Amino acid sequence: MPLSPDAGTLSALASALADGTVSVIELTAPLSSDTPVLDLPPDMAPIPRFRLEELANHDERGPYQNGIHTGEHVGTHFDAPIHWITGLHLEDVASVPPARLVAPAVVIDRTDAVAENPDFLLRREDVEEWQREHGPLPAGWLLYRTGWSARSHDQKLFLNADENGPHTPGVDPECARWLAEETPLLGFGVETVGTDAGQAFGFEPAFPAHSYLLGAGKYGITQLQNLHLLPVTGAVLIVAPLRIVGGSGSPARVLALVEGGA
Ligand code: MN
Repeated sequence: MPLSPDAGTLSALASALADGTVSVIELTAPLSSDTPVLDLPPDMAPIPRFRLEELANHDERGPYQNGIHTGEHVGTHFDAPIHWITGLHLEDVASVPPARLVAPAVVIDRTDAVAENPDFLLRREDVEEWQREHGPLPAGWLLYRTGWSARSHDQKLFLNADENGPHTPGVDPECARWLAEETPLLGFGVETVGTDAGQAFGFEPAFPAHSYLLGAGKYGITQLQNLHLLPVTGAVLIVAPLRIVGGSGSPARVLALVEGGA
């Protein structure tokens, strides 16, 4: 097949973007040295924070430019299947087919439940109930709205840890397995520091969202913002991680196209 997109459809989209009939919503958190980073147990390699290194700044060294230093799993970022042992032989971030990075997205909202209980876990029944109201999950993204992004300016609030570890919302193991194995989803997006709950180190299996979704060749995106600006169904997500060869993930720009004004 020659690469000849339907010019009519794309022209209509371009017009809709120009006249505001379709808006672009920013779902990406600002990336800086203040961006919260997952605190790993002391026996594991720590994740380096994002950092700019000034190389030149309109001075004798040249025009303004920086080096960047960062862990792959920092800020709003993409998890590729090879990030987890269950996805060991699957895609690195550079191998993700571009068509899978532009896809529909739907939103499930548990902001109220999470406000009551930061350890709230989404269950398979919750998503099945959502489907009865809104239709089947798409071959795209399920975005899990929890309100947690309101804490993303502050490492302590965002990780919400005590002597028993972090307390942040996630999914229970059966929900993770079902989303991974029995739905057409491409991936699962969250507002929290990772796709698993803060307490998921103690689940069976441990970190079930990572284990099942990445093992099924699906993806994760984390630290999303502005999910309250999205419709429950009907948004199109553009997910743009860096094409890092061999990369297990990457900071990503994540944008949503929605009908109507932002
Ligand atoms: Mn990650």
